[in-house]
Amino acid sequence: MFSIYQLFGVNSKEQFADLISAREHQEIIRQHRAELIASRIYPFALVFAVLVPLWGILDLIFLPQEIAMQFMVMRPISGGVFLALAFITKKLKIGTKRALTCLVSMLMVPTLFYQFSSPLIEQVELTGMADLLIHLYGLLPYVVIASLALFPLTLKEFSLLSLVLVALASIGLYRADGSDITMLMVQMWLLLVILGVSMFSSLQQVRYLISQMVKASYDGLTKLLTRRAGMDIMESLFRATGLQQSNFSILFLDLDKFKNINDTLGHDAGDEVLRQAAKTLGNCIRRGDAAIRWGGEEFLILLPHTDAEAAKNVVRRIMDQGLAVLPDGTPVTASIGLAEQEEDHTHSWKALVDFADQRLYKAKQTGRAKCICPDGSEVLFGEGKNTEQEKPETTTA
Ligand code: GH3
Ligand code: MG
Ligand code: MG
Repeated sequence: MFSIYQLFGVNSKEQFADLISAREHQEIIRQHRAELIASRIYPFALVFAVLVPLWGILDLIFLPQEIAMQFMVMRPISGGVFLALAFITKKLKIGTKRALTCLVSMLMVPTLFYQFSSPLIEQVELTGMADLLIHLYGLLPYVVIASLALFPLTLKEFSLLSLVLVALASIGLYRADGSDITMLMVQMWLLLVILGVSMFSSLQQVRYLISQMVKASYDGLTKLLTRRAGMDIMESLFRATGLQQSNFSILFLDLDKFKNINDTLGHDAGDEVLRQAAKTLGNCIRRGDAAIRWGGEEFLILLPHTDAEAAKNVVRRIMDQGLAVLPDGTPVTASIGLAEQEEDHTHSWKALVDFADQRLYKAKQTGRAKCICPDGSEVLFGEGKNTEQEKPETTTA
């Protein structure tokens, strides 16, 4: 059955919601969208910073003196705003808020310019080149609305912005055309058609950006999250204050003697083992957890709202299910480091990964095929049945 989602090229309610509002966007998508908006503002701001003041020469030559002089005041101010925008979008750190503020500022310059210039223009009857120049100013509102198509904006952002721009434009158009209502209707109709096309283009850009980012977030071989995407997730999870009052466990896994598998059975067999291991990991975690391919044969499992004891159960589940088996039936094992933010007294994800890494290293050094926990206890890979040995904490980790 045809649904409204398909009209926008998306397949689900969730994807459609991402086009309407940025509220549910992942951190990685937020950042890229902000950078994309900034990178599109920059060249325009730079070109206009030069062109807008320069265009004043034409005003001086062709327009009546008093009008040209008024424009001469507005032009350097507009040029200055554009120059500032070029600087901000090129040199400063850009987040969504700053990018959108820059966009609004950039679009406001021609919009306000038009507001100030339209009353000046209708005061005098112009002919020839002057008339042509003035008619060019009359196109500014259309140019502004059309330029929205260049930016990946959500429906919410687009609607808000275009509402303000269309309102201002219609006031300007009304005044410029000697308050002729019929003429205004015609112009508004054209403005709305351009608006519709811009909106479609703008939303499609958001959709494309998200689909590209989703593709880039998953590893081709294992279909797990990439390291980059995993880091972004941790970054935003740890920034959310709610997490600091709750448990957060991570598992750092490194397959044992994996190089041997590659060397004796070939790289393809190695790849198959990685695929199997990834599948097991995916099967052993809940919906809100995340499995990341951290490196070649290293995996990181994020377990939000999970204390060390519950994380141990996840480890046991992984061990029971078995990461993978070689063609001769030999099970593949891993060395695992477990870290938990409260037990390890840290609110930094980087420190947490370090703790898990240290325990993983210790597991490698003390025989492999085991998990070392924050309290120093070990969970061992066994033949179907696992044993757990309590050991005193020996590291400072
Ligand atoms: P250890 O138990 O100490 O971890 O030994 P190991 O052999 O697993 O450790 P090492 O880090 O020396 O070996 C990792 C190997 O993983 C080396 C690399 O060639 C292999 N590798 C990394 N990425 C891939 C991949 O995508 N496919 C395959 N087949 N092998 C990979
Ligand atoms: Mg390794
Ligand atoms: Mg290894």
